[in-house]
Amino acid sequence: MDRLNVAIIGCGPAGLAAGLLLARQGHAIAIFDQFAAPGPVGSGLMIQPTGLAVLAELGLAEAVVLRGARIDALRGIEEHGACVLDAPYAALGLPGAFGLGIHRASLFDVLHAAALAQEGIAIHAGHAVTGSTCTHEGRRLTFTDRPPSAAFDLVVDASGWRTGFDPAPKGVLPFGALWASLPFVPGDPFAGNLLEQRYRRAAQMAGVLPIGTRPEVGTQEVAFFWSLKAEDHAAWQATPLADWKAEVLRLWPALEGLLARITDRRQLTFARYAHRTHPRPVKERMIAIGDAWHSASPQLGQGANMALLDAWSLARGLAEGRTLAEGLRLAAGWRRDHVWLYQWVTKLFTPLYQSDSRWLPAIRDRVLAPLSRHWPARGIQAQLMSGLFGFPLAPLGLAPPDYEALAESASRISLAASGLPQS
Ligand SMILES: Cc1cc2nc3c(=O)[nH]c(=O)nc-3n(C[C@H](O)[C@H](O)[C@H](O)COP(=O)(O)OP(=O)(O)OC[C@H]3O[C@@H](n4cnc5c(N)ncnc54)[C@H](O)[C@@H]3O)c2cc1C
Repeated sequence: MDRLNVAIIGCGPAGLAAGLLLARQGHAIAIFDQFAAPGPVGSGLMIQPTGLAVLAELGLAEAVVLRGARIDALRGIEEHGACVLDAPYAALGLPGAFGLGIHRASLFDVLHAAALAQEGIAIHAGHAVTGSTCTHEGRRLTFTDRPPSAAFDLVVDASGWRTGFDPAPKGVLPFGALWASLPFVPGDPFAGNLLEQRYRRAAQMAGVLPIGTRPEVGTQEVAFFWSLKAEDHAAWQATPLADWKAEVLRLWPALEGLLARITDRRQLTFARYAHRTHPRPVKERMIAIGDAWHSASPQLGQGANMALLDAWSLARGLAEGRTLAEGLRLAAGWRRDHVWLYQWVTKLFTPLYQSDSRWLPAIRDRVLAPLSRHWPARGIQAQLMSGLFGFPLAPLGLAPPDYEALAESASRISLAASGLPQS
């Protein structure tokens, strides 16, 4: 395919990775984002082996690993102290496999720096896209406060779950969560290599995820999160911080030191999630990737990883398609089954952890938890958590990352050296 002029809407993981991959194929890329200055919003996320496989192809896996925290397992404990979720990456059967907790800003910085260094990518901040028009010349973007763009051969919608290009209802979920990035100091009663969660039925969940070190902060951090229904957010804002902390401590007393680091409610950001799948991710000269195609609650920690897989699939489709339309069809086709599978699995699993139900968490604790300790459920659980369920890598020509090499990089993270406990 000839050199294409490509517009990408959105400078998140999907847009930046797609921009990098397509620019490396020789296409001319313009990324438009509504933000005033480049930057991500939010706290931590998990990079799974799927996302790491794409970052490895981009030559960025090591940079990301060095900024993140190696996570060896997800562990969940219910209010009476029983361990009801124990999902080690070791159960994948891939030697040395791990997940990576990372601050969203660290992932953004690595991708953004690579995009700035890459010839053929222009990033335009302050461009809020309102729509597009398609003629024989190509597809033009329209913006809130400026004239339409020149015509592009291809527009990639990577504008996240609030995308204006899917008119369907957004499927916003009743539960969201308060998130904060907090310092992680030696002596904290958390393992430096676990995503730890505590549950009161499915109505309340607290979590701590080590997210490595941002260079501008210079010390280790954790992402702390507390589930909260959107309808209760206003009441939370009116509640004295000390009363809310007391409520959290009743569920997880060991959080006392961490919560003492929250002195202002503005340290906490309330994030909401939506569960939706764009019914038509491909149309003429346009494709939706990442959350703009499919979004879900972050219970399984897959969104950014799926976004990276979509970006990879798009680049591969354009490389292999004889026409633009065929390339887009291939790109969406290679991803469709995995997207479908994870949308359903997330839809089924989320109410076990975030809902008002009494019987769903009882099933979780009394049926699923004991089952998950045994073959084959233990392996399936690890596959689900790692994003590898449904074998998404092979159709994309990707291989799992080289964990041995990455583990060596990970061992250089100051986590172990800092004396933080490992479990
Ligand atoms: C609290 C929380 C925790 C999460 N945890 C995890 C996790 O552990 N693991 C994981 O993989 N995923 C996680 N996710 C999901 C993950 O963040 C998303 O799936 C991922 O960011 C999607 O990437 P994206 O590039 O598609 O969209 P986004 O990251 O949403 O980026 C979209 C970009 O488009 C821009 N934009 C939006 N509208 C317009 C417009 N009209 N014009 C121009 N620009 C626009 C935005 O400014 C933004 O920069 C979590 C999400 C949340 C909220």
